[in-house]
Amino acid sequence: MRAVVIGGGIVGLTSGLALHRAGVEVVLCERAPQIRAAGAGLGLWANALAVFDELGIGEQVRAVGKPSEMYFHDPAGRLLDTPEFGAEDHRYLLVHRAKLTDLLADSVGRENIRLATAFEAYDEHADHVTVRLSDGSGEDADVLVGVDGAYSSVRARLVPGTAAQEHPGHHAWRAVLPANDITVPESRVILGTHGCRGGYLRTHDGGVYWLVNQFNSPKLTGTRKQQALERAVHLGEDGQHAVLAELIAATPEEQILHNQIMLVPPLPHWVSARVALAGDAAHAMSPHITAGATLGIEDAALLGGLLADTADVPAALAAYEAIQIPRYAHVARLSAAVEHAPTPREFARHYAAFSHWMISQEPVRA
Ligand SMILES: Cc1cc2nc3c(=O)[nH]c(=O)nc-3n(C[C@H](O)[C@H](O)[C@H](O)COP(=O)(O)OP(=O)(O)OC[C@H]3O[C@@H](n4cnc5c(N)ncnc54)[C@H](O)[C@@H]3O)c2cc1C
Repeated sequence: MRAVVIGGGIVGLTSGLALHRAGVEVVLCERAPQIRAAGAGLGLWANALAVFDELGIGEQVRAVGKPSEMYFHDPAGRLLDTPEFGAEDHRYLLVHRAKLTDLLADSVGRENIRLATAFEAYDEHADHVTVRLSDGSGEDADVLVGVDGAYSSVRARLVPGTAAQEHPGHHAWRAVLPANDITVPESRVILGTHGCRGGYLRTHDGGVYWLVNQFNSPKLTGTRKQQALERAVHLGEDGQHAVLAELIAATPEEQILHNQIMLVPPLPHWVSARVALAGDAAHAMSPHITAGATLGIEDAALLGGLLADTADVPAALAAYEAIQIPRYAHVARLSAAVEHAPTPREFARHYAAFSHWMISQEPVRA
């Protein structure tokens, strides 16, 4: 069997690896001239680590990550405890995105990756799909997997009218500071006022990942640094969070990543007979649950499992969709409960309820 995978982000690379391990010949096309991930941290939960263990790279992934715990504090520094959930519901691995994508690209095999090659269109036939690419070439395959992110061109053809939409007023700022630039006494995530959340996490190599988010943000003005500093005001009791403000101030403007958060609306279908969506292309969701990549990694594992040892691609893709659409409807409900929590304590409780659900699900694989 032969697969064309469109997109060399975390989920695209994991899809390429899962299919490769399932005995499928893989051609992965990435629009950018190199495999690169915006340089910030990423939380991987136990379910994603279980997939990487299955794919044989769990130890390598752990080697570029720091075991961490997601607990929230209020601006006064008080822990927002969730005694009904166990310690395992808070544990995750904080990895550096670029190190993870490098490792994944090596595992897929660089020779299987076509860089600077964008998806343009596909033609689906009864027994194969032809993928047309930006360099004028075409690739015939048994299956096309669109893992090209929230603005997916594959999705635009498969499910027209489902353009990514702004999550109104929801913005995120983040950066990773290398070791020696600055150190922090501990990791800390704060649920503040005015819809702001943020904090700083120590990375495995002695650096610091800081992040600031705001729901229902007023219109943005000023530089990215000023925007992040304005929000840090809402994360400290005395009108400023000194450590966070110091981290933001120490970050060069061009290294601060800002995102208007984009969402993919719920899709009526994720597949056709020979085309499937995975990752943000299928379900870009609000990052307040810090799980988009983690869940996308499970999409990849499920696709790999269902396509292993079968020649019946349409049946495998139909099974994938039948599992994933109801699953993501549930994710959306749990995510909304976190987002609309009336108090920081409730936010912390719904967040732990989500991570508890996510990591205690039966592994999503065939
Ligand atoms: C602020 C923030 C914090 C987050 N924190 C976490 C976290 O802690 N934990 C977590 O699990 N998730 C987190 N997420 C979510 C996570 O970042 C995404 O879910 C994940 O990166 C999606 O990966 P992907 O591979 O599906 O898509 P992408 O990373 O968007 O990759 C898509 C790739 O496709 C390529 N591409 C696009 N169009 C084409 C084309 N036409 N042809 C070829 N290639 C193309 C792009 O260049 C890109 O490389 C966060 C998100 C945000 C915004």
